[in-house]
Amino acid sequence: MADKPDTVPAEPCLDPFALARALSGKHFIGGRFVPALSGRSFPVVNPATGAEVARAAEGDAADVAAAVEDAARAQKEWARMPARRRGALVHACAAAIRPHIEELGRLIALETGKALRTESRVEANTVADILEFFGGLGGELKGETVPFAPDVLSITVREPLGVVGAIIPWNVPMLLMSLKVAPALVAGNSVVVKSAEEAPLAVLRICEIMNRVLPPGVFNILSGFGPDCGGPLVAHPLVRKVTFTGSVETGKIVYRTAAEKLIPVTLELGGKSPMIVFADCDFDRTVQGALTSMRFTRQGQSCTAASRIYVERPIFDRFLAAMKAALDRMVMGDPLDERTDIGTIVSPAQYEKVRAYIEEGRATPGATAHLCSALPTDPALKKGLFLQPVIFTGLESSSRLVREEIFGPVTVLTPFDTPEQVLAWANDSDYGLAASVWTNNLKHALEFTHRLEAGLVQVNQNLVVQANLSYGGVKNSGLGKEASLEAMLEHFTHKKTIMMKMG
Ligand code: ADP
Repeated sequence: MADKPDTVPAEPCLDPFALARALSGKHFIGGRFVPALSGRSFPVVNPATGAEVARAAEGDAADVAAAVEDAARAQKEWARMPARRRGALVHACAAAIRPHIEELGRLIALETGKALRTESRVEANTVADILEFFGGLGGELKGETVPFAPDVLSITVREPLGVVGAIIPWNVPMLLMSLKVAPALVAGNSVVVKSAEEAPLAVLRICEIMNRVLPPGVFNILSGFGPDCGGPLVAHPLVRKVTFTGSVETGKIVYRTAAEKLIPVTLELGGKSPMIVFADCDFDRTVQGALTSMRFTRQGQSCTAASRIYVERPIFDRFLAAMKAALDRMVMGDPLDERTDIGTIVSPAQYEKVRAYIEEGRATPGATAHLCSALPTDPALKKGLFLQPVIFTGLESSSRLVREEIFGPVTVLTPFDTPEQVLAWANDSDYGLAASVWTNNLKHALEFTHRLEAGLVQVNQNLVVQANLSYGGVKNSGLGKEASLEAMLEHFTHKKTIMMKMG
């Protein structure tokens, strides 16, 4: 497909194919759409059919320099604006986004293969909510008075860091971008986002819509490949903070580059989150909870997916059977079809990676792969990246399927006999992002919330990241927090100390 010169419609566009074409071949820099300086672009593919639906501008170091220099110029003026006024503008961005929620849901379903009803529309709804939450926090950028001496007024003030480089992944790109951009802007920074190769369109559209409200240059977005576009963004001397969500391997590369420049980073990396089910749980609710915890509707493509489920032995067999039966009732199909519960894997590379894990599990002596649901039969979807959800049983804790993040619809069910045993297993991981405990025993619940090594522990529920609640992992799961007031203050400002001698 050639780059299309279609103009991007200002009105909400419910035809995601037309909107994808219109957004083709563009970055958004300095308040307007621009092509890549090199003129290059790469394909955006519908994973449900394998068809190319758009081209994305292929950014490199030259585009990064253009965007960052523009953002640096715009930031000076933006930082001088009263904080509550900045917040009000970010809040107004939410109002601009709201009429586009359905459009954004459809567009993200098209580019990622996430089912519209169960996932994509849900994600689109979070964007305005996040912008409204942070938009109200401008007045919270407060400092302190420090009791130094009676004739010295000693205070601290919160100042922005400058240009923030934000690198985002493809699984929930609109939500994760909003969690970075909104607090960064309210705190007085400008932002340059590098979108994920697999999902550059919906986030580009959000940037364009927000730029109808924001001054030009404070929020810019580039598409491109990781090393060629993300790398130069992290390395650019005018980028004074990097916030990254992605894999552990790339997170370490980003951290090393940032270390050379001595700039702060926030890293939201992977997870291998345990779900612990006691026999005294509310059985039906917990079976349903296992499905949502594992994010099966998103093909398990979630950092917080409950990819290790430990079930107390007396209910193990019944739990496995109920979980499989519930998964079998879920419909795989066209992500844009309202009847579909489960869409596709995002890309051929991810598909192959997940398939390799499944093959390895199936070849492991003693292991059983319980294949669930059913592949779609529609011939139009025959090239789609559909993969049946799998529940593995009989895997040892040394298995790569128990230890590594698969980022696919694969979970491992293991029976346990004692609380101490399951706590040891749950904590025996390089990751520490999220965990959940399902029980009606208050003692177990309370003890486990304290002893589980994770940034987020939930009891009898397993929700995704929520505005106002700090989110971030320990161990290999990352550094720093997102989503909260604390995240805005600690990660997008620095505290300046001011001392004034009186007389
Ligand atoms: P995955 O592809 O498994 O989601 P990655 O960590 O590779 O995980 O990708 C997350 C984001 O990081 C994407 O936007 C990707 O383009 C970007 N990225 C990949 N490699 C680099 C790199 N060397 N420097 C900066 N960003 C990168």
